[in-house]
Amino acid sequence: MSLQGKIALVTGASRGIGAAIADTLAREGATVIGTATSEAGAVAISERLAPLGGFGMELNVTADNAIENLIEAIEKQHGPVAILVNNAGITRDGLLMRMKDEDWDAIMDTNLRSVFKASKAVLRGMMKARAGRIVNIASVVGVMGNAGQANYAAAKAGIIGFTKSMAREVGSRGITVNCVAPGFIDTDMTRALPEAQRDALVGQIALGRLGAAQDIADAVAFLASDKAAYITGQTLNVNGGMLM
Ligand code: NAD
Repeated sequence: MSLQGKIALVTGASRGIGAAIADTLAREGATVIGTATSEAGAVAISERLAPLGGFGMELNVTADNAIENLIEAIEKQHGPVAILVNNAGITRDGLLMRMKDEDWDAIMDTNLRSVFKASKAVLRGMMKARAGRIVNIASVVGVMGNAGQANYAAAKAGIIGFTKSMAREVGSRGITVNCVAPGFIDTDMTRALPEAQRDALVGQIALGRLGAAQDIADAVAFLASDKAAYITGQTLNVNGGMLM
């Protein structure tokens, strides 16, 4: 699955799934730029990726023009982004009756609007190259829904619809756009859940365990590679068997 010589941008690469994706793409040969929300986080990513030629940069996906400015700076210095992984995401859980407008807006901005903005910003370079891979991190929750996560489910389902539409728009230019929809993965996001809830989740998983970040990273690396050249507009469910 060699990604040799390709520039890959991974948002939210400071920890969890994004960190595993960045490290995996780098091991496959890509020059990986991983983003973190703080300067210190970006430095830590640089230290991690330096042996493989990658580095970290600071990015808050909700800040005005931050995504566009970052991609412009990367492309000026290193050339067009060949692989974009839209991974950054947050949760603001709560039952709908009590959900505040801010909880809805924060999720839409961070999880969905950022995907639109980053995908649009890399498009010019990919169109010119007549090649490109965009992999969006959706969620099993965007496919199945989940009580207490109406905002998050709406954003993740939105990513799936966006992916299908963009794939139709850019396929003729050799660009593929796909989603990976993780099930419940052992990261800070799920470690925040009460133990009883985590145990109940494991009961719904055919393979009987939460996923590892590496399980998601391996699926992303496949979709980012030439091996997946004829796959576009799809959602790859990587959830240990939750949707059967
Ligand atoms: P995490 O909380 O460990 O990591 C989230 C990453 O996103 C961090 O690097 C964080 O800095 C970054 N981020 C958050 N807000 C940001 C912002 N405003 N700008 C830029 N970056 C920002 O969570 P994770 O579990 O590694 O989640 C990664 C992705 O996978 C998310 O999109 C999440 O919705 C999705 N996902 C996770 C699970 C799971 O079970 N952990 C399941 C399905 C989908």
